[in-house]
Amino acid sequence: MFGWLKKITTLEKPLEFMDGAMPNNKNSAHKVETSIGEDMDGSVVFQLPMPEDVEQLKGMSPIVIKQPYQIDYLHSFGQDSPFFAGLTNKRLLGTRCTSCGYGYATPKLACMECGGECDWEELPAEGKVHCFTVCYFGSEEFLPECPYMLALIEFEGFDTLMLTRALGLDPEEPSLDWVGMKVKPKFRRKAKLRPTDVYFVPAQT
Ligand SMILES: [Zn+2]
Repeated sequence: MFGWLKKITTLEKPLEFMDGAMPNNKNSAHKVETSIGEDMDGSVVFQLPMPEDVEQLKGMSPIVIKQPYQIDYLHSFGQDSPFFAGLTNKRLLGTRCTSCGYGYATPKLACMECGGECDWEELPAEGKVHCFTVCYFGSEEFLPECPYMLALIEFEGFDTLMLTRALGLDPEEPSLDWVGMKVKPKFRRKAKLRPTDVYFVPAQT
């Protein structure tokens, strides 16, 4: 397997290049590396089990290491881009089907009713609480806000509801009086380009 190594060691002249790289000075003896230099990466490992008998290796527990892992995603908002452009400009956008007139408070560009193409349309300045729930648990992002109120908002002239957070009401004392309450959108000053850049508060506040 390593027969070619023997051939190299019998050369009278030193090798002039390795890996296609030419030395700077052809007349000087070029040093042939025999080891890879150490760097600060990697681990010096002690006591990693290694049985004497290689027959036992299949029974060895898998080696598990922990290492940081990071990926930068390039995420396209695609056809939804105008919605997020609207949020950053404090304007709430829905869509309406050009064929059947179905209005989407959560925008869709293709109508779920008839498959027709939808156009962008600004939602009314106020909506109403259609229904709500109080969340005592949530994903990592919302945990610090628990308990919080999650509401479906209806808008006059639109056929679908918008799911959003509602603030300004005490979630510890929920009331059925909240159903039908007029609410208005509030926008985060520092946009994160997420649907949570908008939330709703009672309209009279
Ligand atoms: Zn339609």
